[in-house]
Amino acid sequence: MSRRSRRSHVGGLGARYGRSVRRRLTRVQDEAHQRYPCPNCGSVAVERSSVGVWECRKCGNTFTGGAYSPTTKTGEVARRSTG
Ligand SMILES: [Zn+2]
Repeated sequence: MSRRSRRSHVGGLGARYGRSVRRRLTRVQDEAHQRYPCPNCGSVAVERSSVGVWECRKCGNTFTGGAYSPTTKTGEVARRSTG
């Protein structure tokens, strides 16, 4: 009778996520919960409705953006420079 060798198919995945990655995750989740100005009506009422999709509570405008923030860092800098 042959005995099947059992290979563990779990393990490794949990250990793969180190502390630094978790830290980064909490930071982006923080950003995701913030409200952002709406490109359509200008109200700071844009909330993330799902990953990459943002919705304005004021005018109902939905648009796609980053997974965790509606604008990229480059856009932020450009906006800042205009005053
Ligand atoms: Zn709006």
